[in-house]
Amino acid sequence: MKNITLLGSTGSIGQNTLKVIENNPDKLKLFAIAANSNIELLAEQAHKFKCKYVVCHENYKKELSAKIPSFTKILTGIEGMIEISTHKEADIVLCAVVGTAGLKPVLEAIRAKKEIALASKEILVMAGEIVMDEVRKNGVKMLPVDSEHNAIFQCLEGRKETDIQKIILTASGGAFRKNTIQEMSEATYKDALAHPTWNMGPKVTLDSATLMNKALEIVEAHWLFNMPAERIDVVIHPQSIIHSMVEFIDGTILAQMSVTDMKFPIQYALLYPEKRGGLGTLSLPKIENLTFETPDRKKYPSLNFAYESIRKGGTMAAVMNAANEVAVEKFGKGLIKLPGIWNIIEKTMSAHKTIKHPTLEQIIEADSWARIKAETMC
Ligand code: MG
Repeated sequence: MKNITLLGSTGSIGQNTLKVIENNPDKLKLFAIAANSNIELLAEQAHKFKCKYVVCHENYKKELSAKIPSFTKILTGIEGMIEISTHKEADIVLCAVVGTAGLKPVLEAIRAKKEIALASKEILVMAGEIVMDEVRKNGVKMLPVDSEHNAIFQCLEGRKETDIQKIILTASGGAFRKNTIQEMSEATYKDALAHPTWNMGPKVTLDSATLMNKALEIVEAHWLFNMPAERIDVVIHPQSIIHSMVEFIDGTILAQMSVTDMKFPIQYALLYPEKRGGLGTLSLPKIENLTFETPDRKKYPSLNFAYESIRKGGTMAAVMNAANEVAVEKFGKGLIKLPGIWNIIEKTMSAHKTIKHPTLEQIIEADSWARIKAETMC
């Protein structure tokens, strides 16, 4: 039996994780949950799964304590997340918090030698060097939950690093794949949230529309698989059936396919190395065709930012991520048009002088600097 600490239990990945736990009661048990402000759902989850701990934002502590079972202990903030991530009873920490709040809890969980199931790509984008160093030092497993990286992880199993030619990340192309640059520049927030294949939270869905999600995933893959930028490719695959691929030095390509459902990578990470059924199978004749396109870098500058951030190294990817978060918020509020997101990222990145091999403090400083800088731009 594996005891699970779930950071970000009320979001899309969090809720899917709970379904996977429910489907595998003989192997998986929910130990503790954390979320920011969705108190109703957090309380409901604490009751349903009889959690030992629940963590929320300090502001909601009083409201939440009135709603949780008597045996559930309530903690708050990052400190609370660290406590449940390093607790001796926890075996796996699944981190699915949006943004950067999971960084310190995940680092502490690695140092406490917990297995990590990672859905929050920002953690590797910001601090990939530090995080992967700690993973190696502590000999812990880092299992990717992001569907692309989970697919690559599966394709790489049993392979030597020297067998690999390159990693091919697939991208659905997001909401504006069929639109012209002109049409895209007039798009509203609502238009951007209409994802053709995956059902995800608003931030990831918007990042899919700009391909910034793929940009973050390039950096994530760079750290997870120790792969240089020039050996990470992106291909648009609108059907989202192939979740990613690996090309080997003999020219063969392995692809991983399944129904588009996040429960697949979540279940794989939580039950690793065991495989189990229960999530449905693909009907190949019904798919009819799988198509591939080269992404248009003029239409989507996001990929250039990712490669640039890896080339510059150090704090640059954290700056890219922070500028994107600020720009996405501005777009959501109707303060800028969609291409304004790329403008803000580009300008913030060019204003930043990267710090090589930064400490965690320097990364957090660069992140704050980028947020302030991006806030002044449009
Ligand atoms: Mg993904």
